Amino acid sequence: MAVPRSHLAKGRQGRRRSHLALEKKSLVKCGNCKKNKIPHTVCKDCGYYKGREVVNVMAKELKKQEKEKAKRGK
Ligand SMILES: [Zn+2]
Repeated sequence: MAVPRSHLAKGRQGRRRSHLALEKKSLVKCGNCKKNKIPHTVCKDCGYYKGREVVNVMAKELKKQEKEKAKRGK
């Protein structure tokens, strides 16, 4: 049996939605390039983690550029 939708007061709706706000992302400064990064992850700007290079960002950037060039050449 269909149940009629009960009246919802605006205050009650507001109280329920008081917990729906998105949380602010926590960011820390990269120890190498000082840019903001997500904690416990490799910095996406310089590829460093715990004081050493883990990801070669330059090679990645070159690959990206080559891909775009190939796309444009079509
Ligand atoms: Zn960095």
